[in-house]
Amino acid sequence: MTPQLTDKYMVTIAERLTSAYARIANAAKNAQRNSSEITLLAVSKTKPSTDIAAAYEHGQRQFGESYVQEAVDKIAQLSALSDITWHFIGPIQSNKSALVAQHFDWVQSVDRIKIAKRLNTQRLADFPPLNVLIQVNISTEEAKSGCSVDQIPELAEFISQCEQLTLRGLMAIPAKSDDPAEQIQSFEQLQTCFDKLKAQYPHIDTLSMGMSGDVEAAISAGSTMVRIGTDIFGTRT
Ligand SMILES: *Cc1c(COP(=O)(O)O)cnc(C)c1O
Repeated sequence: MTPQLTDKYMVTIAERLTSAYARIANAAKNAQRNSSEITLLAVSKTKPSTDIAAAYEHGQRQFGESYVQEAVDKIAQLSALSDITWHFIGPIQSNKSALVAQHFDWVQSVDRIKIAKRLNTQRLADFPPLNVLIQVNISTEEAKSGCSVDQIPELAEFISQCEQLTLRGLMAIPAKSDDPAEQIQSFEQLQTCFDKLKAQYPHIDTLSMGMSGDVEAAISAGSTMVRIGTDIFGTRT
C-alpha cells in the first residue's frame, strides 16, 4: 500500500508501530519465546483520537488509556471502530468506577476490594464480564498505586467470585531503572507472583509488564503484554 505522502504524521505512527512489533519479536527470540504469546498494548493516553485511528489503520486493535474522562470521550469519537479492545490502566477513583465499568473491556489497575466490588456491581448484566488484572506494587515507594504482594490472594479470591468480573492476571509498573539487571530483578519477582497465582487459578493468562524503557527485561521474565506509549505515539507533554 502506498503511504499517503500528504500525511507524514500517519506514516510516522505506522512506522513506529512496526518498530515496536519488531522489538517485541527480537526480545522474544532472545528469550527463546514465541512472540505470538506477547500482546502489544498501544498506550494512547493524552494523544488525540486521530493518532489512535492512525494506529488502527495499521492493524493495531488493543489500546490503553489512563484518564477516565479523556478516554470516555475518545472511545465515543471512535465508536465506529467497533473491534478495538479498550484497556483502562490508570488509577481508579471510586467516583469514576462506573464509567470504567461501562466503557472498557479490560481494567488492569484493580488494587483493592472496594473497587472490585464497585466494578462488579456497575458492569451491566448484558455486557460480557470485565477482564481484570490485579495491579501489584513491588517497589516500596508509598505513592505508587497497586496492592502489596501479600494482598494478592485475598483480592484474587474476591474477584474470582464476582459474576461480572473475570480475573485474567497481574499488572505492574516497577520503579523506573536504567539498569537492565535491576529491571529483570523486579520483573522476575512479578513472574513468581504470577506463577503462584496461576497454580491456584489455572485459567489466568496475562502478565502485563514492560513499557517503552524496559520491554526486553519484561519479556525475558515472562511478560505476556507490554504497554508501549512513547515509542509509538511520541513523548507526552
Ligand atoms: C503511560 C503508561 C505506559 C506507557 O509508558 P511509556 O513509557 O510511554 O511506554 C504503560 N503503562 C502504564 C500503566 C502507563 O500509565
